[in-house]
Amino acid sequence: MKTLLNEEKIDTQQTGRYGNNFGGQYIPEILMSELEKVNQSFQTLKNDPTFKMELQDLLINYANRPSLLYYAKNMTADLGGAKIYLKREDLNHTGAHKINNVIGQALLAKHLGKQRLIAETGAGQHGVATATIAALLGMSCEIFMGKEDTERQKLNVYRMELLGAKVHAVTSGSKVLKDAVNAALQEWASRSDDTFYVLGSAVGPAPFPEMVKYFQSVISQESKQQLQDQENQLPDMVVACVGGGSNAIGSFANYLDDTNVKLVGVEAAGKGIDTDQTAATIERGSVGVFHGMKSLFMQNSDGQIDPVYSISAGLDYPGVGPEHAALAEAKRAEYVGITDDEAVQAFEYIAKQEGIVAAIESCHAIAYVEKIAPTMSKDQIIVCTLSGRGDKDVASIAKYKGVNIDE
Ligand SMILES: *Cc1c(COP(=O)(O)O)cnc(C)c1O
Repeated sequence: MKTLLNEEKIDTQQTGRYGNNFGGQYIPEILMSELEKVNQSFQTLKNDPTFKMELQDLLINYANRPSLLYYAKNMTADLGGAKIYLKREDLNHTGAHKINNVIGQALLAKHLGKQRLIAETGAGQHGVATATIAALLGMSCEIFMGKEDTERQKLNVYRMELLGAKVHAVTSGSKVLKDAVNAALQEWASRSDDTFYVLGSAVGPAPFPEMVKYFQSVISQESKQQLQDQENQLPDMVVACVGGGSNAIGSFANYLDDTNVKLVGVEAAGKGIDTDQTAATIERGSVGVFHGMKSLFMQNSDGQIDPVYSISAGLDYPGVGPEHAALAEAKRAEYVGITDDEAVQAFEYIAKQEGIVAAIESCHAIAYVEKIAPTMSKDQIIVCTLSGRGDKDVASIAKYKGVNIDE
């Protein structure tokens, strides 16, 4: 069964293109004018001093920015190569980088006169972040979540309800994240007069990839300045995990023109890059159109989206943001795969070395740092983004390791 968004491959505009034609707006006609309004408003507001002050105020006083750039002394000594710095997005309010994006989009929605926020969520992280900001700004909030995911993530469903959001269990398709995105887009198409769709990653039709990048760029804006203050130099390498690619594009953004800074995106290889249980979209996917954008997707020869797999729910997405597809094509960034086993090992490693329980998503980036740092020299520097904290993962990692934590 093809989705609404696959059928309607309309792209009348050349806006939001990356590299060799990635990105664009492949959406039902009915959403075209709404996206145009969003785009115009975004282009105006990002240069508007009042908007920038509102954004800044919430980032500082609500989200706890700037996040630390932490020198991981123990890991550096243990690995015996490059100096390792961790950009601590795990210390943000709600425990991940996602808050940066939802604050920006919710403020934008307010300026557009919208009082109702909708969002998709997979494991629940983006849904919780959206529900959080809706509560703060007094907006109503409805979250679309695959029925499978609502059953696997009951705690986050309750957390969203606690924050005042309504959670819809999506029963179409395979009842997972990709189906939740479709449901949210359809809801927006049918009710855009009072509703804004807060997209959770650097994906979807233009201008979402650009907006999400803009709001997440605070990560590299800060890390660049912080490293300048601490080391008086640029990093040699920046590493971040890639699901849809929002924490990674935010981590890369301010270094894109510094061609001596190597950029590495780490995808989830799941059970192995050559197995069918993987989510390494850039390495394994092919060019297609889905969720309103042209990008790389895990799909069969008919363009049907394949199921993807990773131990990490946040990296379990069958596509990737169009700018990452373009950066890979231009070889400006390199993308590598890390397996479940390697990520779990990194989860334990960083906990024991640094006393940080990091999100399993972020541990994919840490596992890559463990491999690459020893091959680099001691005067080189890696900045690795810790996209989130790992409290949410402790129970499932215990289970993966065969540890019985039931009472
Ligand atoms: C959602 C999430 C990710 C993956 O999303 P991106 O858009 O690729 O950044 C990574 N880490 C954490 C902690 C997340 O919650």
